[in-house]
Amino acid sequence: MASTTLDKPAPGRKPGAAARRRVSVLLPLPFPGPFDYALPDDGRLDDVRPGEVVSVPLGRRTETGVVWDRDGTLPPEFAPPPGRPVADGRLKPVIARAGLPALPAALRRFVDWVAAYTLSPPGLVLAMALRTSQSAQAAPAQGRAQGWAPADPPPAGLRDTPARRRVLDVASRDGPLGGAELARRAGVGAGVVRGLADAGALRPVTLAPAPAFAAPDPGHCPPTLGDHQAQPAQALRDLAAAGGFSVTLLEGVTGSGKTEIYMEAIAACLAKGRQALVLLPEIALSAQWTGRFARRFGAEPALWHSDLGPRLRRVTWRAVADGTARVVVGARSALFLPFAELGLVIVDEEHESAFKQEDGVTYHARDMAVVRARMDNAPAILVSATPSLETLANVGAGRYRHLVLRARHGGAGMPDVRTIDMRAHPPERGLFLSPVLAAALDETMGRGEQAMLFLNRRGYAPLTLCRTCGHRLQCPNCTAWLVEHRARRIVTCHHCGYQDPTPPACPSCKAESSLTPIGPGVERITEEARATFPDARILVMASDTLPGPAATADAVARIARREIDLVIGTQIVAKGWHFPHLTLVGVVDADLGLGGGDLRAAERTVQLLHQVAGRAGRAEAPGTVMLQSYTPEHPVMQALVLGDFENFMRQEAEQRRPGFWPPFGRLAALIVSADTPEAADATARALGEAAPHGDGVQVLGPAPAPLAILRGRHRRRLLLRTRRDIAVQPLVRQWLDRVPPDRGARIDVDIDPISFL
Ligand code: ADP
Ligand code: ZN
Repeated sequence: MASTTLDKPAPGRKPGAAARRRVSVLLPLPFPGPFDYALPDDGRLDDVRPGEVVSVPLGRRTETGVVWDRDGTLPPEFAPPPGRPVADGRLKPVIARAGLPALPAALRRFVDWVAAYTLSPPGLVLAMALRTSQSAQAAPAQGRAQGWAPADPPPAGLRDTPARRRVLDVASRDGPLGGAELARRAGVGAGVVRGLADAGALRPVTLAPAPAFAAPDPGHCPPTLGDHQAQPAQALRDLAAAGGFSVTLLEGVTGSGKTEIYMEAIAACLAKGRQALVLLPEIALSAQWTGRFARRFGAEPALWHSDLGPRLRRVTWRAVADGTARVVVGARSALFLPFAELGLVIVDEEHESAFKQEDGVTYHARDMAVVRARMDNAPAILVSATPSLETLANVGAGRYRHLVLRARHGGAGMPDVRTIDMRAHPPERGLFLSPVLAAALDETMGRGEQAMLFLNRRGYAPLTLCRTCGHRLQCPNCTAWLVEHRARRIVTCHHCGYQDPTPPACPSCKAESSLTPIGPGVERITEEARATFPDARILVMASDTLPGPAATADAVARIARREIDLVIGTQIVAKGWHFPHLTLVGVVDADLGLGGGDLRAAERTVQLLHQVAGRAGRAEAPGTVMLQSYTPEHPVMQALVLGDFENFMRQEAEQRRPGFWPPFGRLAALIVSADTPEAADATARALGEAAPHGDGVQVLGPAPAPLAILRGRHRRRLLLRTRRDIAVQPLVRQWLDRVPPDRGARIDVDIDPISFL
């Protein structure tokens, strides 16, 4: 690797006189840590600072990386092992600065922390912070336009005309302006401006680029707060104004004004001159959110998510770095933006599992948002109607503050939630809506009100079965059934995306017209609703029928304009939409989420169905929610009927506490995958034999994953469970060190897993 030219001493320096100045550079690549580089001998980069983005040689390539530093922020058990030192003579020099804003120290510490916590290579975490700026680098430097300001003092003997006077007045009042703009505002021709410039009465100045983001005004349109809102709003304002790290849970039923209130915290943060970050679980929600923000603050927030076009991404990244973007609303990746002066972090719908990123670096954005707030010494606010048990446990332990809004704003009542016992009121054969629910739908739409049917399943039917031979259509790459999408005439795998035209005959026994759909998806419910209510105006909302936030916003607007009588949707309809004319919500299969034995199945079902229920009766008209269930006596159904979330969560806690299940213990999942079952088994067995043990430490497995084959890879799982006071990271790190890497088998680590498939 050593390059002779590099080792040649620079002219004027004595060979071997001093050790070469070196810097650590972290590259956005999966290496275990930063690499050392030399500063060039010509001294041109001697003042390079940590956080600066530089280009460096890597093998024959040139890579962009960040000058890295370490401090004592990481607990020692998290810190990755030090790399081997490189001899001076083998160091390669940094090539140049990359011309990008430097990554602030708080972001660098955050990258280190996320990497250590998730056991990911720090470079891959850095890649999330830099991904956006790679394009920024390729972009042409923003053109700096020329403008004109009045010369001071004005030249002697200037010929005075009314037109010239107006131009000089505008230029001194409105500051430097481009020639065309100056002429337009003064109401004169371009020649007048040119004449003044030639006479030396206007002097040329370089204009700052126009800010892409108007500053939100905290005083633009403050709300009149309700009685129960004033105190929590003041508490949040005080927190944001005081600054400093803290975490607060803002809990309140749907429609209680949580959004309204945390906007007040944003106002206080803005008034203090700091930036705010708001994370939403689903970017489909952003259109409604930004509209609301603009009405409150008189300017749009900056938006951040993975579908942002390259130009907007570039402009936004820089605007966050230079502080011109004051408020960012975004998906979890917004956590990695280079905020110049972050003063508030808000996580809306904090209980949502969508905050967990499952591929690449697996991290939970809610938890990492709290870490980010700590790094920036800023308050964090977690917002939910149905907080996660993790967050409630932190409140219980006194780590988080708690603010509660107990009633809906403006006196709107909570919906009346009932179960429909499907054993007593079964649907007709081949149908899925109980006569009780069908009658209620009929009545609601008859009154001119809107209704909604919720089923968290896309497509027509989740399973297709041959009535002749019993064959089931299965994904060739996964342990999963193919889901029929009748409108698109395909069967598809919801795990790997495999798709096939719906076969006309059974692929196994060749029997014709023998394939039968089993169970409903939203498409099938829509078919049933169309047949039962032929005059109803029906709208289907599912992630595959609404491509992107704009389509979703359009659908929501049509519902608000009352162009729709019946909304049928998957979990996308459960989100924080405000549908004032919707008074009935029917849940087609309330038991759906309870199967599968997932640790959080009950908690998640309550959260999801409570959120769906929250769509009903948000205005004057009271709402009704009907849950179709075969187990109406189940604690989940009872919690929803009684609206007693607190008691339900207490019972959940009591079930998890004895076995040290989260949040009373810690979990790490190891997922082994390989091309052959033998290779997967061999590595899984080796991991099993090398498993850590001890007081408060237990390993479950190896066992075939429920998705035993995914995308053609055979999968095995092991689960490490520890007491809460034992960190899993060092255990996992040492565990992996004991198992030699095996060709063909791959081990993925998921700290704090929430999916067990
Ligand atoms: P949540 O976030 O708890 O579901 P929101 O903040 O969305 O509640 O409020 C629900 C509805 O009530 C929204 O339409 C909101 O504009 C309205 N609302 C809440 N508080 C106020 C208030 N103080 N003044 C005016 N409207 C309010
Ligand atoms: Zn598949």
